[in-house]
Amino acid sequence: MGNSKPERLIDENGRRIDGRRPDELRPIKIEVGVLDKSDGSAYVEFGGTKVFAAVFGPREAHPKHLALPDRAILNCRYHMTSFSVEERKPLGMTRREVELSKVIREALETVTFLEEFPRASIDVYIEVIQADGGTRTTGLTAASLALADAGIPMADLIAAVAVGKVDGQLVLDLCDVEDKYGEADMPVAMAPRFNSIVLLQLNGRLTPSEFKKGLALAQKGISEIYKLQQEALKKRFSTSKPLEV
Ligand code: UDP
Repeated sequence: MGNSKPERLIDENGRRIDGRRPDELRPIKIEVGVLDKSDGSAYVEFGGTKVFAAVFGPREAHPKHLALPDRAILNCRYHMTSFSVEERKPLGMTRREVELSKVIREALETVTFLEEFPRASIDVYIEVIQADGGTRTTGLTAASLALADAGIPMADLIAAVAVGKVDGQLVLDLCDVEDKYGEADMPVAMAPRFNSIVLLQLNGRLTPSEFKKGLALAQKGISEIYKLQQEALKKRFSTSKPLEV
């Protein structure tokens, strides 16, 4: 696997390490309702990053003493499989996975009508099957679709992507090499209908003007992703079979 530091991340024609232009997303694949045992599920692929999300609930909170009288609790577990990365990954939850589970949960809580299900729990599982940058944003994108697939009432979906700076230039949807060797990485998640940001993190440094441009670039990517999410949901719920009368 060629994940060593390349001489340059953008070539003389302005093309990135994988041939993309700076404002281009990776090839995206989205499928909703891919698993049988959970109430809702989705599979989302951004280039080499492959993620499943599955949702159970609303169901009785367990253990019962955790139940809240006025709303459902939303549990979220973000996890990378041992074979999703090249290096040896600890079997249990790492600190990074615990932190990502928390920020993803907080983002999902902003769009989910938890107050409709007092004493219940909604459990979201995100499994990264293969990691090549942007697993938290891909995970969030998948999790919101799995919630919708489970029929959980939501104000909006969440669409997410990272932007960053590589070789001094702002780029959309970083792959692992760009994330690792670039100057900055900024994951952004939005509820696009409300134009509201539900997650924003920044690793590295951006000037205020780069930050503004980066955010606009993320918004452009997010509106493309949002369209693909809506198409995938429509495909899931439209039936090619004629109605039986
Ligand atoms: N990564 C890895 N091993 C790890 C964590 C991350 O190889 O234990 C890689 C993986 O490709 C991931 C990338 O580093 O997508 C960037 O990780 P980061 O923590 O920035 O989160 P992400 O961009 O995946 O949301």
